[in-house]
Amino acid sequence: MVQLFDSHAHLLFERMGQPDEVLERALQAGVTHVMTVALGPSPAELMESLQLAATRDNLYVAAGLHPHDAARESETFYDALRAHAQKLSVLGEIGLDYHYDRSPRHVQRKVFIRQLELAHELGLAPMMHIRDAYDDAFSILEDFRHVFRTGIVHCFTAGPAEAERFLDLGFHISFSGIVTFKKATDIQEAAHLVPLNKMLVETDSPFLAPVPHRGKVCEPAYVVHTARFISDLRGISFEELAEATFSNALRLLDRQ
Ligand SMILES: [Zn+2]
Ligand SMILES: [Zn+2]
Repeated sequence: MVQLFDSHAHLLFERMGQPDEVLERALQAGVTHVMTVALGPSPAELMESLQLAATRDNLYVAAGLHPHDAARESETFYDALRAHAQKLSVLGEIGLDYHYDRSPRHVQRKVFIRQLELAHELGLAPMMHIRDAYDDAFSILEDFRHVFRTGIVHCFTAGPAEAERFLDLGFHISFSGIVTFKKATDIQEAAHLVPLNKMLVETDSPFLAPVPHRGKVCEPAYVVHTARFISDLRGISFEELAEATFSNALRLLDRQ
């Protein structure tokens, strides 16, 4: 049976609907494993996500302070990450977003570095959200080159050159539904060259639904379309792409 792993979804975001129904539709589509991402600065989403995962199979949890919220940094949230680190698959999403600039850039950098240090302290790999901030991101990550064995660049939105640099740092690259958009030629080129053993697929639900659902509320079941698109792009079978991304995700995210 072909199995898929949605490596990044926000199951508890308001628009998502009832998690059990969403996960059931995912299962019907062959998406047997999902990682849900909880964001700070309140620990509430993290606590609720852990509760959700505790009673379900194959549901993984990540947590971090998003770069959008960097200006709302809270020690309470960091304490919650420390307290529950053993139940987390990765620390994130953390990073830099200069596209929206919702927090001042110097604050984003400071908070990114602080959470990379925290990830190291907790023995977790980082999961990064980097948008229009590659120079600063690479200069920060270069300082952590020998700290992390691996990590994830989630919702990759750049081109082959940036992909090469992330790969050189040992990271995995995760593609969202954006890769299926007609104008995303840079991202498609990157999806062509990233080695299969370094690739993940995700939905970033409820955002970024892939073609043919573009514009709708995204959900984990739709990762099938992203995987199919990339397998067509690379001229390999859907099964091969699914199997590779599934086992990469399991290797990275399953800490049992
Ligand atoms: Zn993100
Ligand atoms: Zn996200």
